[in-house]
Amino acid sequence: MKKNIILVFSLFLSITILSQNSREVTHQLSISVFDPDLKIANQLKTDEMINSKVDDYLFLLCDKGGPKLTGSLGLLRTDTIAMLEMQKLGLENVRIENAKTWERGGWELKKAYMAMTEPYYMHFYPAPVAWTDGTNGMLSDKVYYFSATTHEELEALNGYYTGKIVLMPDVMQYQINFNPLATIYTDKQLEEMEYQPINSPKSKIGMPTKNELLTYQEILDFLRNEKAAVIIHENGDFNVPVISFYAYRMGDPFSPCEINITLEHHGLMQRLIQNGEEVRLQVEIDVEFVNDENIYYVVGEITGIDPKLKDELVIIGAHLDGYPMNNGAGDNVTNCVGVLEAMRILKSLDIKSKRTIRMILWNGEEVGLHGSKGYVKKYVKDEYGNELCEYDKISAYYNADYGPGKFRGISTQNNLALELLFKEWAQPWHHLGFKTVIHRYFTSTDHIPFDEAGIPAFQFIQDPLEWGRASHRIMDFVDRLVPDNIRHNAIILAWFAYKTANMEEKFVRKE
Ligand SMILES: [Zn+2]
Repeated sequence: MKKNIILVFSLFLSITILSQNSREVTHQLSISVFDPDLKIANQLKTDEMINSKVDDYLFLLCDKGGPKLTGSLGLLRTDTIAMLEMQKLGLENVRIENAKTWERGGWELKKAYMAMTEPYYMHFYPAPVAWTDGTNGMLSDKVYYFSATTHEELEALNGYYTGKIVLMPDVMQYQINFNPLATIYTDKQLEEMEYQPINSPKSKIGMPTKNELLTYQEILDFLRNEKAAVIIHENGDFNVPVISFYAYRMGDPFSPCEINITLEHHGLMQRLIQNGEEVRLQVEIDVEFVNDENIYYVVGEITGIDPKLKDELVIIGAHLDGYPMNNGAGDNVTNCVGVLEAMRILKSLDIKSKRTIRMILWNGEEVGLHGSKGYVKKYVKDEYGNELCEYDKISAYYNADYGPGKFRGISTQNNLALELLFKEWAQPWHHLGFKTVIHRYFTSTDHIPFDEAGIPAFQFIQDPLEWGRASHRIMDFVDRLVPDNIRHNAIILAWFAYKTANMEEKFVRKE
C-alpha cells in the first residue's frame, strides 16, 4: 500500500512538472493506476499464460484443415472446424454465412507429378497454376524453350506449339543474399515509422510506346490460344515455387495446364536446351473444377450487456482462405488463431462488455477480398452507397493479416483523432514490445472494404520475420510459425476489442 501511495505521488509530481501543452502530457494525464481496466489487462495476460489453446487451434486450422483455396473442399472443411470450436467456446450466433456469389467456382488439385527424364532423371516440385486445366493423364514428351522475342517471329510460330510442353522465357535471376533470413523491427525502425512525410501523389507520366519486343503476357496469351499441352513458368527460388492463379470464369473453356517451377529447375532445363541437349519431361497434373459459386465467412460473437449499446459492434477478423499446395500457416492461419484465441480469453474470463464483440474469419481474401466485400455490401453500405443496418452500429473493425510476426503497434489508417487513444491503450503492453502508433493507410486486406464504407478499420504492425519466403509459396506450414507471437497477438486483440466495446461513444470517424 505504501508503495502505491509513493507511486501515485510520483506520478502526480511528474504530471505537474511536465504540465506543458505537449501531447505527451495530455497522454500521461489519462493514465491512472486506479484504472480498473488494468486489472483486466493482467487477467488477459495471465489467462493466456496458463490456459492458452493456441497450439490446439494451430493444429486444427492448419494441419487438420489442410489447403484452403477459396471454393475448395479444404476451406469448407476448415470453416466447419472453426465453427465447431467457436461453438465449443460458447460464442453466440455462430454460423457459416454466405457473403456473395462469384464467377470462378472452386478448383481442386488431385495430383501433381513432374520430373525430367532426359538427359538424366531429376525430380521437380511443380506448383500448378490454380484454375488451369490438368494434363489428362501422364505426359511424356520433349520440352521446347520459347525463344521468340519479336511479333514477327511469333507470327511464324502459329500452330507450332499446339500440344507441346513449353518452357517460358527466363525472367528471374538468383541473387546471393547476405541479409538475415528473418528480421524483427528495431526500436529505431518503429520510431521512424511514426514520422510520415506528406508526399504529393506521383503523377504517372509515360506514353504508351510501340514495342517491337514481345511482353511476357503476349507470349502467355499466344501459348494459351495455341493450346500448348503444358506451359512452364519460372517462379520461385530455394526450390520453393510460388503459387499463382488463373482468372477462370465458370462456363468458359478450360485454359491449358500451367505450372510454376523454381528458377533453379527452370535454369537447368533452359541451359540444357540452349546447349543442344534434348530435355524430356514426365508430367501428370490432375485437377477438378468445382461448381460452387458461393463465398463464405465464419462468424460468432459475445453479446454485449449494456441495454443501449449491445446492438453496437466491435469486430475482429482475419482471412482463413489461402492457397492450394500449402496449409496457409503464416498467411493467414496464424492470425485466425490469434482472433479465435482472443475470443477464448474473453469468454473464459467471462469478461463483460457494453457492446457486442464479433469475430469473423473471412473466405475469398486471396482472390479479391470477396468475403469482407460481401459482408460490407450486405450489412454496411450497398453498391449504390446506401447505408445499411450496421453502418451506424460498428464502432471499429480490427484486421490481422501481416504474417506470423508479433504485433508491434497499430496504424490509425490515417485517422489522427485516434492517436492518443491508441497510445494509451498500448501502455500496458510496452513490456511485450507493443507500443507504436502510426498514421498509415495500409492496403490490400480485409479492413479495406470497411474503411472504404466509412467504418474505422485497422491493421496491426507485425514483425516481418522471414515473411517473404513463406507467403503464397508451397512451404507455408506450422513449423515456420512462432506460437508465442500468436499468444501475444491474441492478448492485444482481446484488449483492443474489450476497450473499444466499453467506450462511452463509438470511435470518431474520418469523415
Ligand atoms: Zn493474407
